[in-house]
Amino acid sequence: MDAKISKRPVVIGLEVHIQLNTKTKLFCPCSTDYIGRTPNSNVCPICLAVPGTLPLLNDSAVALGSRMGLGLYGEIQRYSNFHRKNYFYPDLAKAYQITQYGLTISTGGYLDIEAEGAQKRVRIHHLHLEEDAGKLVHPTEDGRLTGAAYSLVDYNRGGVPLSEIVSEPDMSSPAEARGYVVRLRQLARYLDVSDGEMESGSLRVDANISLSNPDGSLGTRVEIKNMNSLKSLERALEYEISRQNKVLDAGGRIVQETRLWDDAEEVTRSMRNKETASDYRYYPEMDLAPIVITDEQIESFKRSMPELPWEKRERFESAFGLSKEEIAILTEQKELARYYEDMVEAGAPPARAANWVRMEVLRALNELGGDIRSFRVKPGALADLVKKIEAKELSSTIGKDVLDVLARESISLDEAIKRIGAPLGRMTGESLGSLIDKIFADNRDVIDTIRSGEDKKGGKMKFIHGLAMKESRGQADPAEVSAVIAEKLG
Ligand SMILES: [Zn+2]
Repeated sequence: MDAKISKRPVVIGLEVHIQLNTKTKLFCPCSTDYIGRTPNSNVCPICLAVPGTLPLLNDSAVALGSRMGLGLYGEIQRYSNFHRKNYFYPDLAKAYQITQYGLTISTGGYLDIEAEGAQKRVRIHHLHLEEDAGKLVHPTEDGRLTGAAYSLVDYNRGGVPLSEIVSEPDMSSPAEARGYVVRLRQLARYLDVSDGEMESGSLRVDANISLSNPDGSLGTRVEIKNMNSLKSLERALEYEISRQNKVLDAGGRIVQETRLWDDAEEVTRSMRNKETASDYRYYPEMDLAPIVITDEQIESFKRSMPELPWEKRERFESAFGLSKEEIAILTEQKELARYYEDMVEAGAPPARAANWVRMEVLRALNELGGDIRSFRVKPGALADLVKKIEAKELSSTIGKDVLDVLARESISLDEAIKRIGAPLGRMTGESLGSLIDKIFADNRDVIDTIRSGEDKKGGKMKFIHGLAMKESRGQADPAEVSAVIAEKLG
């Protein structure tokens, strides 16, 4: 059976963990910049849970969590608190995780997504703050998930602030789940809440999936973990839809459990029976004061909100008259959108500038392997280049070569134009005359045909004109070329 087509309605809800862009951990002064560091070097007595130490809440995590909540149109709670979630596993130094439960920093809200060309609104249940766990490494010879002889633990990540965003089960296909994560990640990046990198683990997705019963009631829910890319999220859900359909077709029943996605084998494997909330024995964290957010703070968070991705898309449509496809590419990253707007502000025509950013800037970035933030060509310089092309001082072919030079070396636009050997300014007068003389001399037969009046359809004339444009490297004005040719033909 095609995994994409399920004979039973699919119900998906996602829990997305986003690592917040704070400098320090949620309850201690250790850095959040842990990637690539020597294992267990980014720790202190607090995040190692040495008896007698006390957690101290990082206010920036509260601000970033609230910001994300506002971006999702959630209700920021004036009062929330922390709980201990108890489970005994070596990735937790304390044997419990400090998290929010019940009273969370933001509740409700929604995110409008797009999947397979259709729009959909996904409701948000809530957003809460919690600390990350350490990382367990299970060394196996062939990189498989199971069969390690021993495990290693690294607490560098332990205590890093996360916001967990729990959606309602409003998605009904793997494509919608992907669409949701794409939009959520874009929002987190626009708000500077997180870099949202799935590969490095700053955005992690757990999926709850069930197939509905024939009477419309919800089936048994299975949780899937360990998907570290958008592709594996879709593949894991497709696999799970197919697996659950097969079990039910064979008269079996779905077990409520947590399954791990195995990227190498492309299967999900049962990890453990799913815990219920009571298994975690949640109870209030008495070492931390409740989080109290005042109306003034909420107002100040609201005032600091930047333009949101969908607001930007709407404005680009009305201000610049671009197509939806163009806008989607230009606004994918807010830095790229900023670059485009700076070009327009520097005088580049909006439609031309959009083409240059979408085609040439992205091509150059792709070749150089960089990012728009480190792109050498400043928007003002590219706007000047585009204006020269508009004024027919340069051809767009030469313009592209100039852009490539500018992208690789820190030199001025004029220097780059000189570098690739293009004369500054248009080819006119004497130089254009002698170029056309040379073309006439090289193509005597064609010129004779034109002069004898046999070029009735004008094909040969077009050929000569095209040659002149090509050999001037686009520096000549097409109308002027026609005039000079006519004059020389006599
Ligand atoms: Zn620490």
